[in-house]
Amino acid sequence: MAAIAAAREGAQVTLLEKNEKLGKKIYITGKGRCNVTNACSQEAFRSKVVKNPRFLYSALDAFSPQDMMDLLESLHCPVKVERGERVFPVSEKASDVTRALEKELHRLRVGIRLNAEVEKILVRDGAAVGVLLTGGETVPADRVIVATGGQSYPTTGSTGDGFRWLKEAGHTVFPPLPSLIPLTSDEPWVKRLQGLSLKNVTLTLKSGKKTLYSYLGEMLFTHFGVTGPLVLSASAYLTELAPEECSLTLDLKPGLTPDQLNQRLLRDLDASGKKQLRTLLMGLFPASLAEEMPGICGIPASTLCCDVTREMRQKLVDMTKALPIPVTGTRPLSEAVVTRGGVSVKEIDPRSMESKLVSGLYVSGELLDVDAMTGGFNLQIAFSTGMLAGRSAAL
Ligand SMILES: Cc1cc2nc3c(=O)[nH]c(=O)nc-3n(C[C@H](O)[C@H](O)[C@H](O)COP(=O)(O)OP(=O)(O)OC[C@H]3O[C@@H](n4cnc5c(N)ncnc54)[C@H](O)[C@@H]3O)c2cc1C
Repeated sequence: MAAIAAAREGAQVTLLEKNEKLGKKIYITGKGRCNVTNACSQEAFRSKVVKNPRFLYSALDAFSPQDMMDLLESLHCPVKVERGERVFPVSEKASDVTRALEKELHRLRVGIRLNAEVEKILVRDGAAVGVLLTGGETVPADRVIVATGGQSYPTTGSTGDGFRWLKEAGHTVFPPLPSLIPLTSDEPWVKRLQGLSLKNVTLTLKSGKKTLYSYLGEMLFTHFGVTGPLVLSASAYLTELAPEECSLTLDLKPGLTPDQLNQRLLRDLDASGKKQLRTLLMGLFPASLAEEMPGICGIPASTLCCDVTREMRQKLVDMTKALPIPVTGTRPLSEAVVTRGGVSVKEIDPRSMESKLVSGLYVSGELLDVDAMTGGFNLQIAFSTGMLAGRSAAL
């Protein structure tokens, strides 16, 4: 996007990509469908940006989600808006987004060099003057835009090279951490539930008494812990906290108040006499969870409905409304959807994306210490900051 913007302003642009093709990460976005942006207002957009939302005012003004949708339409890649204002190509093929942008690069005669790995940025007298490729070749330039991404899914090419260069150039780079990442748990019952997918549950993340995240949606138990949309989103708030500082709880029946749930259990228990408790619970939960619930509540597995005490019933209600999921941490950064941390936004001019420390050096995308929730926000941040960097660099 930065190359397109600079070339549209009339600059002579060379795009250096270390992979054998462009936009490898785009291919895996949105499970191959590419959730390319989010058609919400700027205010709503910024509310989904977890780190440094105010830095994005100018970038989103310069190139909004609507501008992105218009651009794709104009490049013959029609888009559609789905639930939660998430925007996808009508074809549901991420490759169509890459192809559309690539076509525009060719039309604008951007020099595309594939398999061209940048080793370092060349800086002279406080100004960027080009880059050095790993083969030893120097590529001189009046301006350099760095758009090397974060450090997650490194097989797509984002191996954190830009963090190193920017640090060498004197920038503050906050340590890269995983965000939008599955969470790990050592709890045996969590592991035994692997494969169980829950819909219409509410996941709540708290730090002390403060609620950091609480949403209704879907989640999944796996062999290592928990994942799915709710978990990934909650993780965005957990990254900078130690697991022991947080509590993650699940409301398995958000449609029922504790009292309504208690009444229902009372009725069902009364009507079930010598049935096993876990059999009765199958009417309330998926089978594997019904098997686990008595154990989780400290109730012997073979307990009959007629033997369920008031305390046991209360425990069942409490655990159904706020089941604690003990979390040990996150999966590694390489598996994160986005990288938290990166180049300090205090050292980048938000109106141009130019470094305040090195003139002629521009920074865009996930390299910046900005990250957002799922929903098309992270790609739009890359597109908006890239567009602004490209335009500014061409001036
Ligand atoms: C599985 C997954 C699914 C995702 N789904 C979505 C989604 O649906 N919607 C959404 O908004 N976001 C999604 N994201 C996040 C989104 O893809 C990223 O935030 C976005 O791609 C960041 O863009 P970027 O241009 O900053 O970096 P990247 O897309 O990572 O691009 C960086 C490029 O720089 C190149 N490069 C790196 N180092 C060098 C070097 N030394 N020399 C030359 N080239 C180099 C890389 O090869 C790469 O092509 C997803 C991420 C993942 C991992």
